Amino acid sequence: AAVRRPLVAGNWKMNGLRASLGEIGLIAQGQGGLWRNTDLLICPPAPLVFTAAAVAIGTKVAIGAQDCHAEASGAFTGDVSAEMLADAGATAVIVGHSERRTYHKESDAEVRAKAQAAWRAGLLAIVCIGETKDERLAGKTLEVLGVQLAGSLPDGCTAASLVVAYEPVWAIGTGLTPTPADVAEAHGFIRDRLVERFGAEGEGVRVLYGGSVKPSNAAELMAVANVDGALVGGASLKASDFLAIAAAY
Ligand code: PEP
Repeated sequence: AAVRRPLVAGNWKMNGLRASLGEIGLIAQGQGGLWRNTDLLICPPAPLVFTAAAVAIGTKVAIGAQDCHAEASGAFTGDVSAEMLADAGATAVIVGHSERRTYHKESDAEVRAKAQAAWRAGLLAIVCIGETKDERLAGKTLEVLGVQLAGSLPDGCTAASLVVAYEPVWAIGTGLTPTPADVAEAHGFIRDRLVERFGAEGEGVRVLYGGSVKPSNAAELMAVANVDGALVGGASLKASDFLAIAAAY
């Protein structure tokens, strides 16, 4: 099996002001040591991307964004394109987060177009998928993940251009997490689909777990097969928590 370099990514969501950028400086200072071989990424709100990138320059912390529009420019008031994010210093963008899918009614087709926009701008696309609580209780988790993968991933995905984040919707911001066995099942299924569709490249795509990852549960979750890192929401806002999670690898 391919050796996949772990990625610990922080999603600040709609949190943070310029004063919060000190956390990125602290993460950069805390780098090295145990998590020397782990990629670190922080995705602040769009207005902070430019300054965050300046703070992170010359460190191993990369800066990403939380969403992008599918078009490069145009009459789309309030939207931000992948090209603008790249111009501001981002190297990655999250697309299809469940909060976007829920509150902005983003479909798999839109997420797929956003992933293609990310590539057009030279950004790594982090595509999020995950089942709701009702879907899990109905035994439909893998079916839902299969549909989301088929619809949200463009053709031509490569290990270098795509990261998949498995984020059970019911685990996001709730303090609840799936069991290691459930995580193993979901990640194994995602890996199989990636290899089926993208061959050797699919073997190299990193699959992150997201949903209430914190310092106390990171090691257990990250030890699961086919878990190549974490997408961290709440616990990414404090450098000490984020670094503790990164150290779990
Ligand atoms: C997320 O927003 O991607 C997430 C996983 O949030 P939290 O870690 O707060 O559950």
